Amino acid sequence: MTHTIIEPFRIKMVEPLPLTRPEDRARFLKEAGFNLFKLHAAQITIDLLTDSGTGAMSAAQWAAMMTGDETYAGSESFFELERTVRDLTGVLHVIPTHQGRAAEHILFSAIHQPGMVVLANAHFDTTRANVEYLGGTARDLVVAEAADPSSEHPFKGNIDLARLEQHLKAEGDKVAMVLMTITNNRGGGQPVSLANLRAASELARRFGKPFFLDAARFAENAWLIKQREAGQASRSAAEIAREVFRLADGFTLSAKKDGLVNIGGLLGINDDALAEKARALLILTEGFPTYGGLAGRDLAALAVGLREVLEEPYLEYRQASIRYFYNALDKIGVPLMRPVGGHAVYIDAAATCPQIPKWEYPGVAMANELYLEGGVRAVEVGTLMFGKPGPERDETAGLELVRLTFPRRTYTQSHVDYLVEVVDEVFGRRRRLSGYRIARQSPILRAFTAELQPLAPTPLPAAGR
Ligand SMILES: *Cc1c(COP(=O)(O)O)cnc(C)c1O
Repeated sequence: MTHTIIEPFRIKMVEPLPLTRPEDRARFLKEAGFNLFKLHAAQITIDLLTDSGTGAMSAAQWAAMMTGDETYAGSESFFELERTVRDLTGVLHVIPTHQGRAAEHILFSAIHQPGMVVLANAHFDTTRANVEYLGGTARDLVVAEAADPSSEHPFKGNIDLARLEQHLKAEGDKVAMVLMTITNNRGGGQPVSLANLRAASELARRFGKPFFLDAARFAENAWLIKQREAGQASRSAAEIAREVFRLADGFTLSAKKDGLVNIGGLLGINDDALAEKARALLILTEGFPTYGGLAGRDLAALAVGLREVLEEPYLEYRQASIRYFYNALDKIGVPLMRPVGGHAVYIDAAATCPQIPKWEYPGVAMANELYLEGGVRAVEVGTLMFGKPGPERDETAGLELVRLTFPRRTYTQSHVDYLVEVVDEVFGRRRRLSGYRIARQSPILRAFTAELQPLAPTPLPAAGR
């Protein structure tokens, strides 16, 4: 009997990885203002910044691109996508957008009412920003376990149903919708259980509110339900995903995640009047309803991607590769956000480097060190990203994390073995790392553009890697 879960694909086209020397990386990092967002791709060997639009398409997707129909109105590629999405989700109106946030903007604009409140397990950054931009209030009602990195709760993306009911009662007419983000990206790619989705949908219905999904990682969520939820093991991930979509009145979806494409988004709506408003906004900001913000070839590749992503050998391999990395780091003793999620591994940088105060960005210190050590790009999810400048020092974020996010179908097991070595080396010198100060920052979304300065010279990695 064999036990190894293999990559269920072979490689037909290769892209060379940039290999750099330690002294080059030290220079690149300095030139980037010690902010990994400002590196160039050619300076990075393994890029774990995000899983958004960074994955590899299949031969079938590339073939579909070649036959994509670029007709302005009535593209056959649209109708193919519409059939696929209706079959998967049961939704009546399928509206393509250039990416997830465009779908969000259109949905919230269409449903907008003065003082609107959106009740969610957790809003993704762009979702919250779109609600607040329209003058609304975005409330996160995720279960308490989500705030505790050491809790092994299997569904840390669940919404707190008691609090949801309280808010539905107390905020009545102001509540524009109940929104469930699957999986919960903010909380570590943690899934939402089917039971929780059923109950939240039921509550929304009881209070007469639309129930929507932010479904960027719907397939990973379905797979984790199959793995972790009592009574779900014998169902297919596709069957579970189909049920989850049918609990909702609609969804927004960034196709750059489980759509297995490099660009694209979807808005799905059942309500005819709401869909009509949304299509009017679509024409205003994205394009004609049979292409939205995309080329015909993009629609064609997405239709194939939405089918491939629910193939179980793919989902099994995807989860196995992330679990493999997680288990290896766990064995070394690296403090991790528990349990393993669907698309990324999160290191608890505050616990790893207790000598660095939170306002000196332990997550940045660790992420930068990973780059210096092995040309690996991770991302800080902590005070640089979510904290705010204060009079003396920053108001810190809740958790100081380093996120290592896996692009889909892109890296192999030997890449992961290399990553484990890189983290191991940095972990070995964790007590010698020091923090950073911000030299320049912008008032909004500072993490993307800030320039930083090390508070002590960073120790260079041993030569020869
Ligand atoms: C990526 C993402 C979005 C936004 O989608 P874009 O395609 O990046 O605009 C919204 N919600 C979730 C959960 C996401 O992961």
